[in-house]
Order: sequence, then structure tokens, then C-alpha cells
Amino acid sequence: MLEKSWKKTKGKDIQCTLCSQFCELSAVGNSLGKCGVRKNEDGFLVSLIENKIVSYNVDPIEKKPLYHFLPNTPIFSVGSMGCNFDCAWCQNSSTAHPQNQEEAKQGSVVDANTIINTSIQNHCKSIAFTYNEPTIFFDLMLECAVEAKEKDIKSVIVSNGYQSPQTLKTLLPFIDAANIDLKSFDNKTYQKYCGANLKPVLQNIKEIAKSNTWLEITTLLIPSINDNKNELKQLAHFIANEVGTHVPWHVSAFYPSRNMMHLPPTSKESLQEAYEIGKTAGLEYVYVGNIQNKNETQCPHCRHILVTRNGYHTKIQDGFEGTCPNCETKIPGVWV
Ligand code: SF4
Repeated sequence: MLEKSWKKTKGKDIQCTLCSQFCELSAVGNSLGKCGVRKNEDGFLVSLIENKIVSYNVDPIEKKPLYHFLPNTPIFSVGSMGCNFDCAWCQNSSTAHPQNQEEAKQGSVVDANTIINTSIQNHCKSIAFTYNEPTIFFDLMLECAVEAKEKDIKSVIVSNGYQSPQTLKTLLPFIDAANIDLKSFDNKTYQKYCGANLKPVLQNIKEIAKSNTWLEITTLLIPSINDNKNELKQLAHFIANEVGTHVPWHVSAFYPSRNMMHLPPTSKESLQEAYEIGKTAGLEYVYVGNIQNKNETQCPHCRHILVTRNGYHTKIQDGFEGTCPNCETKIPGVWV
């Protein structure tokens, strides 16, 4: 089942092909990839975190955020060490960016069965691969997603969308829903603040939209970094024109973190402006999140209110199971 995610290049040098960083890993000094957890060991790729997780929790699914996928249900969430991005505002940097190899190796060894059984014991209908970038623990994630499918447990990724094309192709048939971060619409921002490029993310978002995996997109709105109107207009038009007006866009509030402690939190006005930009671009479902607020899902046809949320308290209106009870418009998503 598992496909080899690296190849030999010259002598004992290798290239990792798991994500779109495509790190060249020299045999000299047993070099590490950008994720800090995959390395060349004597001509072979090894993972320092194989089958280890450092974080697990039962979360409301709205926290991922997913609003059109099994709303108001708990989701068993797991994460490991390491990340293939280096975001200056990372809120999980203690796990995403281990200081050294010993730190990267911490965590508890688990197998897919343990994760699945724990999610069942906690009355979860789904498992989220989240907290750090799940591509980094691809083998465990895939094994888990394959076995979960057999037990009718859904699998979710919360991801930066930087899988290599081959990795995404292997993974998608077993993933039921994805929330992908679209951090900016400016490649320079991706390069300067995340150590990555925009193009593979856009490509992967389009691939996921074409698949059977339910897709939602999140943009953390960071003052002075990615919140200018023109950029947000371009981003919203990309979603509307190349992904789909039915795809929910979450505009999420930033709070000072990591190397961005000098910036203020996102203002309510800025979040509202992004919301209006999304709606003007034709997006049917735009949600403001990561602040204490109320929001709702309305039928785009008759404006009937279908789901209301107050923080993580979610209420599904009586009679709504995916079709508007007022006008019978089908609402995209996985509702039951
Ligand atoms: S997973 Fe990505 S960042 Fe890590 S070694 Fe492989 S290509 Fe590099």
C-alpha cells in the first residue's frame, strides 16, 4: 500500500518526494529535510517521528474549522512533531519546529488501530490529522485513513496543501474532508514568511476540489502581511472562479505569536472587509472565525437559516439534513 516517497539521486544522496519542498538530502552529515524530521541515513530516508504522535484531543469539528462536514460532532484529532513550512506566525511552533533531532523524536508510538479505537471510544465519527502538518506523518496517517474507512470512520486533513502531486494522489481516495490553508495570494509572502511557494498550494486546492473529498479553505488574516484589499480580491476570485463558489472560505483572526509578536490582532473591521470581499466575489459561504462571534449558514437561495454557531456551540435547525427545509435547495457538504 505505502508508496516510496523518496528516490536516490547520486551515490548515497537522495531526494524526498513526500511534499513539494522536494528536499535534496545529502549523505554527507546525514542531512535533514526542511520538516526537521526526515533525514538521509546512509543513503536511505528515515523518519524520526515514524508512528509517533505528540498531541491528541477530542475537538468540536467546528474548531478545524469544518462547517459543512458532520456539524456539531466531536472529532478525534492527532498531530506529531515537524512541519514542512516555517511560518513566522506559527501557533504550534513548539511541536512544528523541534530544536534538534532528540526533540523531534519525542512522542508516543501508536498504531492505526489504537487511534481508530480511541476515536470510537470517544464517540467520534471522524479523525483529524492536524495540529502540525499531517503530510509529515504520512505513513501513519494513510494507514489510519485506510483502516478507518473500513470501520466507517471518516478521515480529515487540516493541511497547508503542500503535498507532492504523487502524495496527494495516493492520499485523497481515503480522505473524506480537507481544510486547506491558503495563507496569502502573493508568492513573495509564501517565500518570505513560510519558506514555501504559492503555486503548489493552488494546484493542490484545485485537485482536491475535483475529487470526492469535501473541501473548505482557511485564510488567517494577518495585519499588514496578507490583508490588503487587492490581494484578498484576487484570492477570493481564485476560489470563486477556479475552485467553486460553493466552497466555504474561513477568514480567521490572527493573534500575535512566534516572530509576529509586534503585530496587533486582526481587527473586526478587517475581518468584516474580507467577508464582504468574499461575498462580492460570489462565494456563497464565507465565515469569520477565531474570534468570539456568532455566525450562521444560510440557504443561498432563500436565506433560510440552517445552522447557527456561537463560539463552538452549534445548533442545526430542525429538519435540516443537507436540503433547505424551506425551498429544498441542496446545500453542499456532508451533513449526516
Ligand atoms: S517531507 Fe517535505 S520538507 Fe520533509 S524532507 Fe520531505 S520534501 Fe523535505
